[in-house]
Amino acid sequence: MAQVSIRKVVKAYEGNVQAVKGIDLEIADEEFVVLVGPSGCGKSTTLRMVAGLEEITSGEIWIGGDVVNDVPPRDRDIAMVFQNYALYPHMSVFDNMAFGLKLRKFPKDEIKRRVDEAARILDIQALLERKPKALSGGQRQRVAMGRAIVRNPKVFLFDEPLSNLDAKLRVQMRTEIKKVHQTIPTTTVYVTHDQVEAMTLADRVVVMNHGVIEQVGPPQELYHNP
Ligand code: ADP
Ligand code: ADP
Repeated sequence: MAQVSIRKVVKAYEGNVQAVKGIDLEIADEEFVVLVGPSGCGKSTTLRMVAGLEEITSGEIWIGGDVVNDVPPRDRDIAMVFQNYALYPHMSVFDNMAFGLKLRKFPKDEIKRRVDEAARILDIQALLERKPKALSGGQRQRVAMGRAIVRNPKVFLFDEPLSNLDAKLRVQMRTEIKKVHQTIPTTTVYVTHDQVEAMTLADRVVVMNHGVIEQVGPPQELYHNP
């Protein structure tokens, strides 16, 4: 059964043409799907509808066997990593990673266990007491991922997570994201305009253009030399 199912989903912004024009996509359990395509093609809107950050105009989105159209983001079994990290500047790395769990009333010892485990996977154990401003861009990115990992969600959503990093860090974090997916294989929907990222990370690439899905397939099929 598909973990994420997007069925005939349309998004029309007010006074605008349709940003997403009735797309269908089935994403399997543990699959890593990358949405690519030119700026304005509807990638981010699609991801935000799966996250619940954007209302859908028509159609259905299913996560883990349930329709989530009217389920608010906090109650969806997802965690999202943003391009701007969205870390809380006044909180330590530990508290940033623990925040979503505290909000959901997890017991203290369970929170500590999960944060320590995620910090180990991401190799940031030594940074837990620091504030975000005392971190490098790559370290901040790891913390943002840690915050998603501790939630142990059914689905990870990534919105252009590497686009603020320099070229060298991008390569490093690509490897890191791949490693995390191999360590804890979680269904992932990842948005980027970078074809190299799509090629290196995806089990399947979904090419969008003008609000429709143009092509779907494994990277080696889509990006072979013509
Ligand atoms: P992408 O992520 O592929 O760059 P988006 O999903 O952000 O594309 O945008 C798809 C289309 O919807 C674009 O034409 C964009 O201008 C439009 N759009 C995005 N957000 C809004 C909004 N809040 N209000 C009106 N139009 C929007
Ligand atoms: P976390 O996602 O770390 O658990 P919250 O529990 O505060 O943080 O987030 C609740 C929901 O709000 C999440 O599912 C996430 O998708 C969304 N969210 C978190 N941070 C932002 C942000 N900076 N902008 C928009 N949405 C966000």
